[in-house]
Amino acid sequence: MAEPKAYRNFIDGEWVESRSAAVFEDRSPANRSDVVGLFQDSAAADAEHAIEAAARAFRRWRAVPAPKRAEYIFRMGEILVRRKEDYALEMAREMGKPLREARGDVQEAIDVCYYMAGEGRRLCGWTTPSELPNKACFTTRMPVGPCGLITPWNFPMAIPSWKLIPALVCGDTVVMKPASDAPLPAYQLVKLAQECGIPNGVVNYVTGGGATVGASLLRHPGVALVSFTGSSETGRAVAIACAEEFKRVSLEMGGKNAMIVMDDARLDLAVDGAVWGAFATAGQRCTATSRIIVHRKVKDEFIARLKERVENLKVGDPLDDTVEMGPMVNEAQLKKTMEYVQIGRDEGADLVCGGVRLTKAEYGRGWFFAPTIFAGVAPGMRIAREEIFGPVVSVLAADSLDDALNIANDTLYGLSSSIYTQDVNRAFQAARDLETGITYVNSSTIGAETHLPFGGTRRTGNGHREGAAQTALEIFTEWKTIYVDYSGRLQKAQIDTN
Ligand code: NAD
Repeated sequence: MAEPKAYRNFIDGEWVESRSAAVFEDRSPANRSDVVGLFQDSAAADAEHAIEAAARAFRRWRAVPAPKRAEYIFRMGEILVRRKEDYALEMAREMGKPLREARGDVQEAIDVCYYMAGEGRRLCGWTTPSELPNKACFTTRMPVGPCGLITPWNFPMAIPSWKLIPALVCGDTVVMKPASDAPLPAYQLVKLAQECGIPNGVVNYVTGGGATVGASLLRHPGVALVSFTGSSETGRAVAIACAEEFKRVSLEMGGKNAMIVMDDARLDLAVDGAVWGAFATAGQRCTATSRIIVHRKVKDEFIARLKERVENLKVGDPLDDTVEMGPMVNEAQLKKTMEYVQIGRDEGADLVCGGVRLTKAEYGRGWFFAPTIFAGVAPGMRIAREEIFGPVVSVLAADSLDDALNIANDTLYGLSSSIYTQDVNRAFQAARDLETGITYVNSSTIGAETHLPFGGTRRTGNGHREGAAQTALEIFTEWKTIYVDYSGRLQKAQIDTN
C-alpha cells in the first residue's frame, strides 16, 4: 500500500511542518485501515506564527478594493465547479457522508463563492442628512481584522466556506483551524485560495487539537474575531475565553430539532422528510430531525410507515452512490450514540428498530450504527432533550397544534424546526410560533440556501447568522461613521449645535 500523503500547515504563503514535529492520522470511518492522510498535530507556536502572518497581511489586504478581492473569490468558485466530484469523493472517504451528500457539501462552497463574489461590488453602507448645513454623513463597513475560524467535521467544506469567503470579501485575513476528523476539504479551499493568487498571509491553515491550536486563537490578542461552529459545550468555552480579551465572537452550535406531523399531513411526505432529516449524514447534522412530534390520531400509522422505510435504508460504503447512510465519524460519536440508546431504554422508551452497532462483514471495518427509532418518548426524557448527534430519532405524541408547539419549544436549543400539514392556518401559526432560527413547512428540518440567514436561537447561537449578506457581513465587518464638513466654519461655531 502506498504511503499516506503528509499534509502541511499553510502559513504566510508557505506549506510548512509543525514546530511540534508531530502528525496525526486521518482515517476513513468506513474502513479504519484506510489512512486518508497525515496532518500536522500543531503546537500553539504554529498558531501564533499564523496569527502574526495574518496580522501583517491584514494591513495590505484591507487596502485591496473589495471588487478586486471578490474577483479572487469568483475564480475559486469556478475551479470548485470543475473539481466538485473529486472533492466530494475525498470527503465521502474522509468523513463518511454518502457521496450524494458530499456533492451537496461542495456545492455549498461553490454557491457561497458566487454569491459573496457579488458582495464585493456592494458592501453597502448608507447616507443620511446631517443636522448641520454643508455637512455630509455616511457609513461604511470596515474589515474586523485577523479572524480565527474554528470548524467542525460534519460539513467540512461548506462550513469553512461560510466563514472564509465572506471574511475575505470583507477584507479580513484568516487562520483556519478545521476539525481533526475532516481537515482535508478545508485544506483544498486553502490550496485553491493560493492557486487563485490570494496574497501570502491572507489565508493561513493550521491543523491540530482544540486545546492547542483552537485555544491559541481564542487567547492571542492579535485575533480580532473568532467565528466558531461546533458543540454548545465547546462554544461556551470559546465565548468565555473571547470575553477575557473583549474579542468579537460568532457562535453556531448544537440543535435538538423537532418536526411536527399534524393529523392532516400527507404522511408520504412526512415519512420521507423524517427519514432524510433523521438519518442523512447518519444524524450528524446540526439541523438533524431529532424529535418527531406526531398528532396522536396518526401516530401509529406514521410509526409503522417510518419503521418500514428505515429498516430498508441502505447503510454502507459512503463511496457507493446507492448508499443512503454511511458510518458515524469516529468511535467517540458511536459510543455516545450507544450510550443514548441505553439511556432511552432505561427511561422506558420503546425501541422500534435499530439500537445496535453494525459489525457484520464490511461494517466491521468502520463505525456503523443501525438507524434507530424510539417511540413512546416523553418530553422530559433525556433522549428528547439532549443532542445525540447520531442516527437516533424520538417519536413523541401530541393532541393538538398548541400541544405540539409547546413540546417543540421546550428545549435549550433553537436551530431548525418543521411542520407537515395541509392547513395553511396551521402552517403560518407554526412558522410564527416555533422558536427556532429556521422553520420549514412540508419539508424536513435539514437543508440551507446560502443567500438566506443560517443559525439559531438560545444555546444554538449568540445572535449572529451566517449565510445571507445582510447577516454574514454583520459578523465580518464593523461599522464606521464618517462626517465630512464642507461649511468652512470654525469648530467653535459648531460646538453650539452638537
Ligand atoms: P466540537 O465542539 O467538538 O469541535 C468543533 C471545533 O472546535 C473543532 O475544530 C475542535 O477542534 C475545536 N475545539 C475543541 N475544543 C476547543 C477549545 N477548547 N478551544 C478552541 N477550539 C476547540 O464539535 P464537533 O464534534 O466538531 O461538531 C459537532 C457539533 O457541531 C454538534 O454539536 C453540532 O450541532 C454542531 N454544529 C453546529 C452547526 C451550526 O451551524 N449551528 C453546524 C454544524 C455543526
